[in-house]
Amino acid sequence: MSHFHAPGTPVAVLTTQPLDRALDYRAPAGGIEDGAYVEVPLGPRKVLGVVWGKAAGDWPVEKLRPILRILPVPPMSDAFRDFTERAAAYTLTSLSAMLRLGLRAPGLGEAPGKRRVYALGTGEPDRATEARTRVIAALRERPGDVFALSELADMASVSTGVVKGLVKSGAVLEQDTPRDADYPTLDPDRAGKALAEDQMVAASALRASVRSDTYGTTLLKGVTGSGKTEVYLEAVAEALAGGLQALVLLPEIALTGEFLHRVEARFGARPAEWHSGVTQAERRRCWSKVATGQARLVVGARSSLFLPFQNLGLIVVDEEHDTSYKQEDGVLYSARDMAVLRASCEAAQVVLATATPSLESWANAELGKYKRLDLTSRFGEAVLPKLSTIDMRDEKVPGGRWISPTLKQAIEARIIAGEQSLIFLNRRGYAPVTLCRACGQQVACHQCDARMVEHRFQKRLMCHQCGETAPMPPACPSCGVEGKLAAVGPGVERMAEEVATLFPEARVAILSSDLFGSARSLKAKVEEIAQGGADIIVGTQLVAKGHNFPKLTLVGVIDADLGLQGSDLRAAERTFQLMRQVSGRAGRADKPGVALLQTYQPEHPVIRAILSGDEEAFLREEADQRRAAGVPPYGRMAGIVISDPDGAVAFDVGNALARNTQPLDQVGAEVFGPAPAPIARIRGRHRVRLLVKAPRQAPIQPALAEWVARITLPRSTRLSIDIDPQSFL
Ligand SMILES: [Zn+2]
Ligand SMILES: [Zn+2]
Repeated sequence: MSHFHAPGTPVAVLTTQPLDRALDYRAPAGGIEDGAYVEVPLGPRKVLGVVWGKAAGDWPVEKLRPILRILPVPPMSDAFRDFTERAAAYTLTSLSAMLRLGLRAPGLGEAPGKRRVYALGTGEPDRATEARTRVIAALRERPGDVFALSELADMASVSTGVVKGLVKSGAVLEQDTPRDADYPTLDPDRAGKALAEDQMVAASALRASVRSDTYGTTLLKGVTGSGKTEVYLEAVAEALAGGLQALVLLPEIALTGEFLHRVEARFGARPAEWHSGVTQAERRRCWSKVATGQARLVVGARSSLFLPFQNLGLIVVDEEHDTSYKQEDGVLYSARDMAVLRASCEAAQVVLATATPSLESWANAELGKYKRLDLTSRFGEAVLPKLSTIDMRDEKVPGGRWISPTLKQAIEARIIAGEQSLIFLNRRGYAPVTLCRACGQQVACHQCDARMVEHRFQKRLMCHQCGETAPMPPACPSCGVEGKLAAVGPGVERMAEEVATLFPEARVAILSSDLFGSARSLKAKVEEIAQGGADIIVGTQLVAKGHNFPKLTLVGVIDADLGLQGSDLRAAERTFQLMRQVSGRAGRADKPGVALLQTYQPEHPVIRAILSGDEEAFLREEADQRRAAGVPPYGRMAGIVISDPDGAVAFDVGNALARNTQPLDQVGAEVFGPAPAPIARIRGRHRVRLLVKAPRQAPIQPALAEWVARITLPRSTRLSIDIDPQSFL
């Protein structure tokens, strides 16, 4: 498949520029291979690209411009190019946008000499300004790391001149980047942890799959604490022993710290890391060492699926059900689905690890498309937490309070025993609603159809849709009356306040994504709590994601009904997963745990399913309902969002689409809408939604492409298509 192009012959080059096709260039002296990373002229500029096969040939060779330079990295593999094309077709994304995801190595096109980095020096600044102090503080927070100039300036919110100014005094060290160092060798033959019987069975099945050198996906299901990580690390060991590369995806970078320790314990060294928490220099090193095949194991966020692996043998998607695997900005893709696609292109294995499988993965295992391995016993002595509900209709809770007397007692008992409790509420901020007691109006975002949420720690109101923040106004924005704004309902910050009032002596820690400036500070907090640095943890869904707190024996869910109200097709599934995940935090090590769910609907089928713990019954029931409705995973869906500053324009486009459905009719797809999106305005743009539903086997992508291509969009209008949408906002 891969082809060598003789010098002077025409070749196609795909660039990262927003063009919808590859362009023809002339092969340089010495010829060039398919997949080579190159620099080519485009208009007056030089841009990066990849040799993408034979030229279209619609221009005479002598008129073509030559390829300027071949970058000193190994070419993109056939499998990776194949994946890029298939992923673009699947997500209805342009090939150039897809290639951009694969070229996210900082400074890839730069000559090595240009790569200066900056680190903490030993000198003192000759004159201390506030800006200079921020630079030093940023460097001190991450000792040992080196940064690109603009990266460091951004971190400290200063101009690059401030950083340069600190170099003279020696307070900041300027260095030329050393050649990227090799990653230490991982030793697959070191003895791992002793495995339990069911772990051994699962591990040897995964090892055999990796040895088979073919594509396959396995759902590895096991309750929290059953030792899934040890099992899939055996699959990683098999890949390493066989000379293959492996990738482990984690849903949350705060989890990487603990995971890196486990990799180090198993293989004697740390793997490569790829996520937003590592420096540009580290990311460049990771990209280039993955490209040469020297980096054998990468631990990363979803974007690591687009790294230039040479011989990928295994992808693990840990916590495969996690919603953060869905990229909701820019290129809309599900990392879980893309992992399966990439593995099928690379003849590699996928392991989907979870305690609570997504209905999609569960259904694929039922159909026999995926293999399935179950871990039944919890590792060591620990048993599953005992779950029960607290019927809030029977509890006497004063106004403005949310912790029931029953839950309060349970927390007290834990404090006396020297154990930790977790109070869980999946809502950021202090209070979801700020209401004026004079006029009855709620404070809303002026750009969005959304309420402003009070964040008391930051003393600001924040819009969770567009990120807009504003200071807490002294007077009501609607009627101007002062001193009448009141917080209504609980957010996680308000729960922390209530906990502090109820237990003034206790050490309280809050875990909410918006309270940590960096992944690093979150990681540090998580580690501090794990060491016993808090009696009571108050957290959002951030805590559900596999953090290991050995002293935690009680989980109290403030509002188990919260997720049940949505009209979202996955509302029941999400609530079930979240409650199971959160309860699973209690009682690992050697102490049994208890989970108490505060609810006003203890008879609700989802709440009952959570308590019974009969997950298979829940999934079967949920699957039956979805099958009857013809919705995913038993049907295909696509969400179309049309946005425009003018709501009428957006609706006109939506109506035009709804009237011209012929390409969709031909594949048996139905169109619903247009209707205002549940959040009808974000950042000043009005949003209109259409929903497309099709039978499972329908070739929906080409039909969608043809359908939207028939409409000419006004310049101000944006249209996005989300295949297999996960959220319906
Ligand atoms: Zn008012
Ligand atoms: Zn907003």
